[in-house]
Amino acid sequence: MIRKIKFIFIGLLIVGATIRAQNDIVRAIIDEASENSQLEELAYEMMDLIGPRLVGTPQMQKAHDWAVEKYKNWGITARNEQWGEWKGWERGITHVDMISPRVKTLEAMQLAWSPPSNGIVEGEVIMIPDVENQAAFTEWLATIKGKFVMIDMAQPTGRPDDNWQEFATDASFDKMREKRAEAMRAWRMRVQNTGYNSRTLPGALEDAGAAGIFISNWSRGFGVNKVFGAQTKTIPTIDIGLEDYGTLSRMVEHGDTPKVRVEATSVDHGMVPTFNTIAEIKGTEKPDEYIVLSAHYDSWDGGTGATDNGTGSILMMEVMRILKKHYPNPKRTIIAGLWGSEEQGLNGSASFVEDHPEIIEGLQASFNQDNGTGRVVNLSGQGFLHAYEFLQRWMEPVPNSIKGQINTNFPGTPGGGGSDYASFVTAGAPGFSLSSLNWDYFTYTWHTNRDTYDKVVFDDVQSNVILTAIMTYMASEDPEKFPRDRSVLPMNRRTGQQMEWPSPRKPTRKGGGE
Ligand SMILES: [Zn+2]
Repeated sequence: MIRKIKFIFIGLLIVGATIRAQNDIVRAIIDEASENSQLEELAYEMMDLIGPRLVGTPQMQKAHDWAVEKYKNWGITARNEQWGEWKGWERGITHVDMISPRVKTLEAMQLAWSPPSNGIVEGEVIMIPDVENQAAFTEWLATIKGKFVMIDMAQPTGRPDDNWQEFATDASFDKMREKRAEAMRAWRMRVQNTGYNSRTLPGALEDAGAAGIFISNWSRGFGVNKVFGAQTKTIPTIDIGLEDYGTLSRMVEHGDTPKVRVEATSVDHGMVPTFNTIAEIKGTEKPDEYIVLSAHYDSWDGGTGATDNGTGSILMMEVMRILKKHYPNPKRTIIAGLWGSEEQGLNGSASFVEDHPEIIEGLQASFNQDNGTGRVVNLSGQGFLHAYEFLQRWMEPVPNSIKGQINTNFPGTPGGGGSDYASFVTAGAPGFSLSSLNWDYFTYTWHTNRDTYDKVVFDDVQSNVILTAIMTYMASEDPEKFPRDRSVLPMNRRTGQQMEWPSPRKPTRKGGGE
């Protein structure tokens, strides 16, 4: 009897000591994240100094080298691991001045991978015509040599709909929307009548000798456009801000013949190798089991990729810094992957999953953060039967002010795309998405020319640092390994079929060029 009590007593002592140790580490994580945050410095160096991180650009390479250097300064092993190759391209300047009928410097940016202009080029601005058929369009093509061609519809309003909703009378809001819907129908017909579509039209204009192509890809917010990749091979494709595009368009329609002076520079670097930055803190008891911190590092380059996905990247770097300092001998191995080329199809992370079956085999959990600067508000179990038990346990010591905001969905359903967690989930391994509060992400920052440092909400990112660091610590210490049993998936309401586990992501290892 006495022996038994003694054992229970010792047992309680051990449990007590473990909880004390846990409390100490959790406290140290929170203090470090709050009192000694490096987020602003990391954001400045990554977003302002290095800039956007389009796959295949020298800036992307610089960002990889910078991250490895940062990790080394924190005493963390890190390397750049090649996963493929991509068209190498370097953005230069884009300068567009309207020089007639009045002078104004326009808000303009060449698209990613756009060819340069042929030096400084002056030319008339025209618009694809409203023709009956392809024959008429071909006739018109003979007249466009040396001219800049607008191929998008000018928006009838630069005010976002919620602004109309707040201030317009119901009647004028309805009228605007009808007018816009009609204009969009007419524009679709106009493009269709050329015999080309939006993908093939730029090539036809290029072949006919146009000096450049003007588009305007409005993102439905004040002053914000999305900037993606160019279709042209020899002439620049340039996005013009909604306001200036509207001015040019109205001048063309009124027959006032706007002229511009354009200088767009860029350098084609041929095919270049592409990388993931992998940082690692080796596990002491179970080095062959892993927690993978996951964030895509690449971005589009209209802005500086601040919220897509600079914030996810500095989050994971900051978590690694804090863990190395206050939890330097983790039970399991902790890896942080800063992936390349998520924007072209999760290529960096899907390649990592293919290249490292041993890590996928030993994966305890992967935590991905991507959708903006906001604090985490959603967490899905991704269809894993035991997600509730494990994720709740890992979140247990997270302060209520942080975890209290998170809506959980357990077991949830497996995600097949959207961001890099899907590369793990589709391989049957536990990948979770730390999904953020919106902060007008899709309108204002996602893939736009306004995705810049000033949009970062550092308090929210800091809150995500605390959450991610504590969950990583708890997942590392857990006596049990996360079981991969899948829950019974729900019926797809549209097809009436039972949902299936999505098949593994296939990375594109080579792209962008020809
Ligand atoms: Zn993203």
